[in-house]
Amino acid sequence: MSPHSSTKPGWEIVIGLEVHAQVTAASKLFSSAAAAFGSEPNESVSLVDAAMPGQLPFLNRACIEQAIRTGLALEATINTYSVFERKNYFYPDLPQGYQISQYLRPIVSDGRVTIRTDKGEEKHIGIERLHLEQDAGKSLHDQIAGKSCIDLNRSGVALMEIVTHPDLRSAEEAALFLTKLRALLRAVGSCDGNMQEGSLRADANVSTRRYGEPLGTRCEIKNLNSMRFLRRAIQFEASRQIDLLESGESIAQETRLFDVESGETKAMRSKAEAHDYRYFPDPDLPPLLISPALIERLRTELPELPDARAQRLEREYALKAEEAHLLAQERTRADYFEEVARNRPVALATSWVLVELFGRLNKRNLSVSESPVSASALGELLDCIEANEVSARAAKSVLDAMMDSPTDSARTIIARLGLAQLSDDSALAALVKEVVEENPSQRDSYRSGNEKVWGWFVGQVMKRSAGRASPQKVNELLAPLLKGSENEN
Ligand code: ADP
Ligand code: MG
Repeated sequence: MSPHSSTKPGWEIVIGLEVHAQVTAASKLFSSAAAAFGSEPNESVSLVDAAMPGQLPFLNRACIEQAIRTGLALEATINTYSVFERKNYFYPDLPQGYQISQYLRPIVSDGRVTIRTDKGEEKHIGIERLHLEQDAGKSLHDQIAGKSCIDLNRSGVALMEIVTHPDLRSAEEAALFLTKLRALLRAVGSCDGNMQEGSLRADANVSTRRYGEPLGTRCEIKNLNSMRFLRRAIQFEASRQIDLLESGESIAQETRLFDVESGETKAMRSKAEAHDYRYFPDPDLPPLLISPALIERLRTELPELPDARAQRLEREYALKAEEAHLLAQERTRADYFEEVARNRPVALATSWVLVELFGRLNKRNLSVSESPVSASALGELLDCIEANEVSARAAKSVLDAMMDSPTDSARTIIARLGLAQLSDDSALAALVKEVVEENPSQRDSYRSGNEKVWGWFVGQVMKRSAGRASPQKVNELLAPLLKGSENEN
């Protein structure tokens, strides 16, 4: 069943995402402990993160700047006045007993992200808000038998929560949105976007309705940490709801979990309401005031964003719009392409990166950053093609071999496989001469006007060189030998 057919005719899926993006910063939101991934448990915990009595939070300016950069990339309003509030709840991994977050006055509001559907249509997805908040710690149940442990490394790490309007209409659109958001975060450098490590995760709010009806009751699926899980969870949840509604039942608003094994969503708890959290402004933190000058400085320092890059790639390299967007969607892909294309014929670079290399990576399920062949290594292969050191056809076998032995250069492999093209060396001249001399009657036939014989000679030389001769060079070498009679006359 194709993903598109998972919706029943007459039914519309409505999705809004709440995305948690870990802020790229050396230290945590309110403490100087390192915010790095992969430390030993509790290696990176300050007294503030452990919520020792009397410790006060101290706002990390770097995190504020990252949130502003992100807001600018989201074409949003940066609020010069925002407020940190306490969201109160009890959980073992939350030593403070509350999370410092933003509620009524977030740092960023009213933005949008533009996605391109596979039909090339553009659609704007509204961003309701972006606010800063603290991450919680983590309970570990597999360290000591019969006991649970707490790792507070993540406690206090800065997160940006980015909330969309319910503007998404399919699992595919949700994945396109998250992919685009990730590209924006990576472009401005505010989050590494690594879903496997948990730096980027999404909660999907899903409801369904018959076309034309008002919004239905939604369920929220927590913590989706891959594009595939996001798509599958939404598809499953939408058909679960449609089945219930069709059989006359109603949807209970609740929080659900996606079970990776079964591919199903399961009820976790009924939805908590905002008033359950007893939000109130954190008395330890004054309102956050941001100067317009800072916003303007960060705006002018913003790097090239994915859409602008796609447009530039389209223009500079005469790419198709889809090709340019495919590249710009992942900075590493675009960087790779531009490194190969710099100072090389564009058509050559385009077909070798987009078709030959990406095709081989796809087959092995590798991303560009995992490519065994670096941009400079592929560039060398293209230089060999340009210099007629290897034929374009033989170069494909060279690239295959490079995928398997990443440490060998193109030239090393060309030599090892004996694929060097016979171009300007005397060996090819000797070969051409040999073929002409062995076939005097064909030569005379050409001289007496049978021009087709030219192609026959080229074919003979190619055959004898086992495909390593450059056809262009063969033509050059044949000319004086076949046309020789004109000079003699
Ligand atoms: P809450 O007050 O519970 O946080 P919000 O109104 O802020 O709820 O919405 C949270 C998320 O749910 C947003 O991403 C929003 O777009 C989405 N959402 C709201 N209503 C619906 C709905 N009926 N169907 C799908 N998503 C919805
Ligand atoms: Mg809300």
